Amino acid sequence: MHQPELTPQRSSYFNYQIHPFVQPAEMRGAAPRQPVVVVGAGPNGLLVALDLARNGARPIVIEAEAQVCGGSRAVAFTRRTLEIFEQVGASDALLEGALLWDKGRSFYRGHMVHALQVPGSIDDRFAPMTNQPQNVMEKVLLERAATMGIEVRWQTKVVGLESDHSGVHLQLDTPAGEYTLACDWLVACDGARSAVRRLQNLRFEGRAYTGRFAIIDFRVPLGAPTGRRCYFDPPWLPGYAVLLHKAPYGIWRLDYQVPDDVSDEEALDPARLRSHVQAHLDYIGADLPWEIEWVTLYKPNTLSLARYNHGRVLYCGDAAHLLPVFGVRGVNTGVQDGNNLSWKLASVIRGIASPAILDTYTDERLADAQQICFEAARSTRMMAPPSRGFRILRDAVLQLSVRNEFTRPLLHWRTSRPIDYAESALTTVDATEGRFAAGPRPGAPARNVCIDPEASPRTWLFDVFGPGFQVLAFGSDDSILQAVSADVAALRADGIPLRIVQIRRSHDTRSCVSADAVMTDPLGRVFSAWGVTEGAVYVLRPDQHVAARWTNDAATRVSAVVRKALCRDAPLERQPRQPSEALA
Ligand SMILES: Cc1cc2nc3c(=O)[nH]c(=O)nc-3n(C[C@H](O)[C@H](O)[C@H](O)COP(=O)(O)OP(=O)(O)OC[C@H]3O[C@@H](n4cnc5c(N)ncnc54)[C@H](O)[C@@H]3O)c2cc1C
Repeated sequence: MHQPELTPQRSSYFNYQIHPFVQPAEMRGAAPRQPVVVVGAGPNGLLVALDLARNGARPIVIEAEAQVCGGSRAVAFTRRTLEIFEQVGASDALLEGALLWDKGRSFYRGHMVHALQVPGSIDDRFAPMTNQPQNVMEKVLLERAATMGIEVRWQTKVVGLESDHSGVHLQLDTPAGEYTLACDWLVACDGARSAVRRLQNLRFEGRAYTGRFAIIDFRVPLGAPTGRRCYFDPPWLPGYAVLLHKAPYGIWRLDYQVPDDVSDEEALDPARLRSHVQAHLDYIGADLPWEIEWVTLYKPNTLSLARYNHGRVLYCGDAAHLLPVFGVRGVNTGVQDGNNLSWKLASVIRGIASPAILDTYTDERLADAQQICFEAARSTRMMAPPSRGFRILRDAVLQLSVRNEFTRPLLHWRTSRPIDYAESALTTVDATEGRFAAGPRPGAPARNVCIDPEASPRTWLFDVFGPGFQVLAFGSDDSILQAVSADVAALRADGIPLRIVQIRRSHDTRSCVSADAVMTDPLGRVFSAWGVTEGAVYVLRPDQHVAARWTNDAATRVSAVVRKALCRDAPLERQPRQPSEALA
């Protein structure tokens, strides 16, 4: 019988709660078949559950443990992650107590050799980077899941799995014994050691690095600003790189490579850990009291499944790939997987998309993982040179960078960022594409715009977006709305959720009759940022990536674009179902 740890983990800043096991209907004789089950209540599982619900599906979540993750694990989240959290209604809560930053600095033997500036602009609602510990993030997502009525089954471990063309049977172990749960679809978000992946006999491909890194989170009243600091070749760890990062709640993180001749046991020896913290504080001239909060070892792997959809089972987050955390790739990548998968799977469940759309989940997200592996391998070689040759090269770059600008870009790591699905089978490139001077191109994520930076409070373009497809009609002229509304009405009759958003320059109330929302852009900032004049149309997918755009043409393509984005040329699985209240 499964017996998870029921003693709350210790933390100086986080109050761990033990979530009880509740006997499910299946153990009382009932056997309701679930449309979709998510395994794992980590950040990706919870995000997928919220996004599935937002897109009209009703997921349940299975979680082996009784509490959220230990330590702080992930701590730095990108703007795109915040934008996705905003879509599911969890961004405000995530920002409570968070630290925001956009700069980093690298030092070599006391000289600054590189200044990192993560790009951002007045048009962004969220900072380039937000620091918040992962346990706090998981709590925020759980609270949001509770308000959405999503059932999380705690203390319930997946121990067996059978799947065929029609669905999945899960064998679940609990403190009260085992039971079987049947579902149409399964989303595996059960992390790096995924039981679902093992039960399906799937293996990662790619590279497992032998190098190990240690993370020490420690409490210290260090008054330095938030941002990433990298120290190459510090006197207490000659030849290696050390990162120092500020987390919320008075915690700082020391992250360094463990020399190859040091065993795991030696690396985690409390006396050694303490000596490293003290040595680094001495090195930066901080004579302050401190205490260790949490310690772990990790390896920077670049591993991925070859496909993320396997029949009725879909993989997401660490269950699908293991990416180096340099450049903050873990949660930030997994959250984009979940945002990509959720609307597609919800559309299949509701009978408005062909299951063929799930192949595009693999195609779109695997391309991102491959790009990350390529970039992260470069960052990893810079942080932890894998051979004598790489070390000589890295040290030469560092020495030159003390006095020379031209070598400093080689020290730049690319941080996690959203990917364009320009090559996707779901994306339409219109014949009028060449007329756009700017704006998010087909496949790219929508670009937020601050309507008036001088206004208080500020409003943003994304404020008018809702669930489902968005048809953005630019202009005050009613003809553009009339052109799209016939298509929209026909698609809605097929059960497809769409919203027409009119974006116009003046407060003219005549032409908003058929729009679901109207955004007035008196300064023309949206028109300018999106590269449009009156008469342009953008269609956004439910994950807010551009499905298509066209301009100055009376002919409407909404129907063709949306049908393509839902793979409706391939057979549907069932009759369209009405969405849940989330979409109503
Ligand atoms: C030290 C460290 C620092 C990091 N820093 C960052 C960072 O700054 N930014 C970033 O983006 N990422 C970072 N990461 C990576 C990040 O922590 C992971 O990518 C993230 O936790 C993956 O989320 P997940 O939901 O996919 O999996 P997990 O968080 O591992 O969650 C999986 C869940 O599934 C449950 N589960 C497992 N097996 C079963 C089973 N058989 N049945 C039921 N439930 C099961 C687990 O209990 C767990 O709750 C860091 C990781 C580490 C270790």
